[in-house]
Amino acid sequence: MMNFEFNSEQELIKKTVREFGQKEIAPVVRDIDDGKRIPDEIIKTLADIGLLGMTVSSDYGGAEADPVTVGIVAEELARADISCAIPTFFLVQAAWGQLLDKHGREAAKKDILPGVTKGRAFLGIAATESDVGSDLANMRTVAKKVENGYLINGQKMFISGIAEAVDQLPQGGGYVTLARTDPSRGTRGMSLFYIPLKGTKGITSTTFEDWGRRGISTGGFTLEDVQIPGDFLIGEQNRGFQLVMEGFDYARAIISVVCAGAAMSALEQAMEHLKQRRAFGQPIGRFEGIQFKLAEHWAKLDAMRLLGYKALWMFGKEQSEGAYSRFEVTRHCAEAKLLAPRFAFEAINDAIQWFGAFGYTLDCPLELALKGVRSYYWAEGTLEILKIIVARELLGKEYVAYR
Ligand SMILES: Cc1cc2nc3c(=O)[nH]c(=O)nc-3n(C[C@H](O)[C@H](O)[C@H](O)COP(=O)(O)OP(=O)(O)OC[C@H]3O[C@@H](n4cnc5c(N)ncnc54)[C@H](O)[C@@H]3O)c2cc1C
Repeated sequence: MMNFEFNSEQELIKKTVREFGQKEIAPVVRDIDDGKRIPDEIIKTLADIGLLGMTVSSDYGGAEADPVTVGIVAEELARADISCAIPTFFLVQAAWGQLLDKHGREAAKKDILPGVTKGRAFLGIAATESDVGSDLANMRTVAKKVENGYLINGQKMFISGIAEAVDQLPQGGGYVTLARTDPSRGTRGMSLFYIPLKGTKGITSTTFEDWGRRGISTGGFTLEDVQIPGDFLIGEQNRGFQLVMEGFDYARAIISVVCAGAAMSALEQAMEHLKQRRAFGQPIGRFEGIQFKLAEHWAKLDAMRLLGYKALWMFGKEQSEGAYSRFEVTRHCAEAKLLAPRFAFEAINDAIQWFGAFGYTLDCPLELALKGVRSYYWAEGTLEILKIIVARELLGKEYVAYR
């Protein structure tokens, strides 16, 4: 049996987040981008209504939300904040909070998760390095087992939320971080650690100036003889690569509905304009040259949004019932995320075109959406790497050209 409806609780959450988004977020999106930070009051409200770290267990203040519900919140936040800064802040913590909650040890969970659910701490993912992004199997950060824990050396770069984790949020924050524990064993010699940034000896951080999604920072950090307790190992030693892929699956599926939210919101704003703006004696919305594009964009967004929710639903069924294999889930999440940023970007680009010269001014907010969804051509896996993943799952591992 198939059911395309949200349940009554999900409908209520959707309505609540939509109202909050339209009232409190949409009017200040340009200010958030110019100010390069999400205002404290917005983070506090997100926490107060139970949306931050909503995937984690109630022991740490979370709502134990299922992936479809998380998708609904992410989509609604993106409808309001078309720049994707707030949705990114939300989704990174939802996906990696779930991973830490499920596979982490008590000490790490206690250190960060209550702060995340209260909006007082940031939790992100640190996998990419300055020399290695797509080819993660070749990353260099190393963790050595020592008495009482691990000694970590290396560097992570192009990481979301660095300013938030270093000093913007009251308790700072930390990262689910990938490091080699047995360099001779490739991806089977990598482990995941929780590393707090604020106040940790041996860490220096940096931030970049991005051209989009500027309400959340991007940056990097170096680790020089950083000592962390053994309890900050997440899951089993040398199983980190497999675990990090689980987190990426979740994040990718959420990103697909974020792109749908931002792009559909942009198209709706454009539709109002198509009805008002006149050329050649009639509203420009009457011209088929515009209508055909609008219809195609809407149909594509509708389709990829449904694929995103299917991926989220499958991820949930896999996590709670073991209903699907990791491979099937990975493929669906990759499919959804490889379509979403591109479909969204192309739709927003045409929506801007329909605004005429006004579309090229900063008074038209849609450039924020264009730049925001563009970040997902890279973040959490590039469109090219996602195609490699989908093809690998379709053809079989023996058709991967390199490892
Ligand atoms: C705004 C933003 C936020 C980010 N946040 C985070 C974060 O929080 N945590 C984190 O760990 N990382 C983060 N990243 C990094 C992101 O995961 C990487 O950018 C991504 O994995 C690609 O790595 P790279 O930038 O090193 O590109 P590279 O791996 O150097 O690739 C360069 C280009 O070559 C292409 N390419 C590489 N190999 C192939 C191939 N075999 N076939 C075809 N094309 C190929 C890539 O697709 C890409 O277009 C973020 C990135 C951005 C832009």
